[in-house]
Amino acid sequence: MLKSIPFQNQNSWQECLADLITDPNELLKILDLKPEQLDLSMDVLREFPLRLPRSFANRMQVGNPYDPLLLQVLPQQQELKAFPGFVSDPLAEQQFNPKPGVLHKYAGRVLLMPTSSCAIHCRYCFRRHFSYTENSPDKKQWIDSLQYILADTSITEVILSGGDPLAISDKHLEWLLEHLAAIPHIQRVRIHTRFPVVIPQRITQQLCDLFLRYQLRFVMVLHINHAQELDEEVNAACKKLKEAGVDLLNQSVLLKNINDDPETLISLSERLFTCGITPYYLHMLDKVKGSGHFEVSIQTAISLMTKIRACLPGYLVPTLVQEEAATTNKTPIL
Ligand code: SF4
Repeated sequence: MLKSIPFQNQNSWQECLADLITDPNELLKILDLKPEQLDLSMDVLREFPLRLPRSFANRMQVGNPYDPLLLQVLPQQQELKAFPGFVSDPLAEQQFNPKPGVLHKYAGRVLLMPTSSCAIHCRYCFRRHFSYTENSPDKKQWIDSLQYILADTSITEVILSGGDPLAISDKHLEWLLEHLAAIPHIQRVRIHTRFPVVIPQRITQQLCDLFLRYQLRFVMVLHINHAQELDEEVNAACKKLKEAGVDLLNQSVLLKNINDDPETLISLSERLFTCGITPYYLHMLDKVKGSGHFEVSIQTAISLMTKIRACLPGYLVPTLVQEEAATTNKTPIL
């Protein structure tokens, strides 16, 4: 019978971050798998290395080469295969990049990228080829970005994305929030993060106190693709965030062999709601080079949505969306 790895890590989030699994061979050893059971590639690591928190690996099933969490992070030979239409910058984000670390694409909202770093590397990530070197602003450039937001009174919401914005220190985050709170037209700060899921230790009381301190509404958009990612530690982290007044939403990516069946999507929605998270978006895969093997067709996606809609109350059904390069909003697929 398959078993999960026992929980062993009671370290601080910084210690967890300093102790990521970066060698696929170590992961295989932990999961008791042989290279010949997998489509493993070491070549693809040069471009996009393995980064995997141990607490996330703890939720993978030992002995299962098809584990849905493992497949999200495993460097595979299929990444080297060219799929038609899959390119380096599928959303053409560089054209909406007015200043280093700033993306201004949606009306009323601006996206800031406080860091290029992530706790985990998801192999399907649409920013895997994004030029983070050109988008790692220094303090002077940050002030410049804040001036940009101050000057545009149509901006009411600032989205912190990345990289993963919770990879920065509380001190850095405090500096940023203090400046945003001082801009009169900013009402909300939205944080796109996988930290509460992959390193739940990141949700400390100190961080929650920051959310309680400012007259801003905080929304956290998590990224969870499978119910197996939501263990009791993640549930506890989500509870802390709710107590700090943070609204929790989830966006998933529809991924072949990971969550492309109705039962998996239904149990994901049910489990999210148990943890106090509202299912928000189910994204079609962004066609980024190296991720073609994760693609699910639109026809399959629509048929999946019909099936899950028949089994779930409306508030547990995420909206199926696709992001298109030329458009300034996500396109719902009906
Ligand atoms: S955490 Fe988000 S930004 Fe980072 S690799 Fe995963 S999908 Fe990409």
